[in-house]
Amino acid sequence: MSGASYFLAKGTKYEWASLLAGFCGSSAVLYDYFVSRPRRFRRLADEVIAKRFKVCPRCMYDLQGSPDDGVCPECGTGYTLKSLETDWSRHLAPWVRHG
Ligand SMILES: [Zn+2]
Repeated sequence: MSGASYFLAKGTKYEWASLLAGFCGSSAVLYDYFVSRPRRFRRLADEVIAKRFKVCPRCMYDLQGSPDDGVCPECGTGYTLKSLETDWSRHLAPWVRHG
């Protein structure tokens, strides 16, 4: 084996290793994006819907004991029953289970 092809082979091997490392790294990100995240959001969607959208969209404070129109006691965000429904529907639309 000549010097040049030895280095070429070595370089190729290194490239494969970094490709593999890159693949492992990005598959962890992909797993989080396509598996963990949807799971989290679906659980969130179920919870918010069970509470009839009466959850603060900003800090997740449970507003069930609060008036229909008011201000979140936790973070001060103003809300109405309608705004909560609109906000949550928009946030959760892709994650809501149909049927
Ligand atoms: Zn809040």
